[in-house]
Amino acid sequence: MNSELCSKISFYKNKLPDNGILVAVSKTKPVEMIRKAYDCGHRDFGENKVQELREKVPLLPGDIRWHMIGHLQSNKVKYIAPYIFLIHSVDNEKLLKEINKHALKHNREIQVLFQIKIAREETKYGLTEKAYHDLLKKYLNGEFPGVKLKGLMGMATFTSDQKQIASEFGYLKKLFDELKTKIPDVEYLSMGMTGDYEIALKNGANVIRIGSGIFGERKY
Ligand SMILES: *Cc1c(COP(=O)(O)O)cnc(C)c1O
Repeated sequence: MNSELCSKISFYKNKLPDNGILVAVSKTKPVEMIRKAYDCGHRDFGENKVQELREKVPLLPGDIRWHMIGHLQSNKVKYIAPYIFLIHSVDNEKLLKEINKHALKHNREIQVLFQIKIAREETKYGLTEKAYHDLLKKYLNGEFPGVKLKGLMGMATFTSDQKQIASEFGYLKKLFDELKTKIPDVEYLSMGMTGDYEIALKNGANVIRIGSGIFGERKY
């Protein structure tokens, strides 16, 4: 057995609340390594590029739950629509329309999270609060029948300032709690990576996305 990898996975899993999900972020890592994590019993894996998913998915077991966690271009939705378990990164209406279209085409419901811009950095994707409320209104009006909104996702500013990170996660938790009062099916709050997952969990995350903490540093 790959006891070191398995114990890293258990380490993070044990920190989660009940029904929480550990997304093992396997981007840039070879399928052999994903297979080892799979053999530890792990089933949730996250990738941030459609092309990489297209290469890896056919080589790995069919019961893996694939999470799309990176910025997603509308014209690439068609490639992942048949199997994707959860899209964490819905940050515009055009993308949601496209997900809806392909979900209906494949006769399935695609689960999504709305990605909210919580970081101060210009580079981080996500809906502003105004754009979020506009999109939510359309969703609640039934404009996307092929889509199931399961919660919210956010990435904090890359900083050593713990208070800043906590306040960004706290803000997202507040939006999440409001959303839950409107939609009972909403259950996932995806926030926290290797560097900030403890702050995320303290602020109510129940989905964490861990890459380097499980698989080691990435070399690009
Ligand atoms: C790469 C990535 C992660 C994991 O990052 P680590 O710091 O390696 O844990 C989490 N979320 C997103 C959106 C990512 O792109």
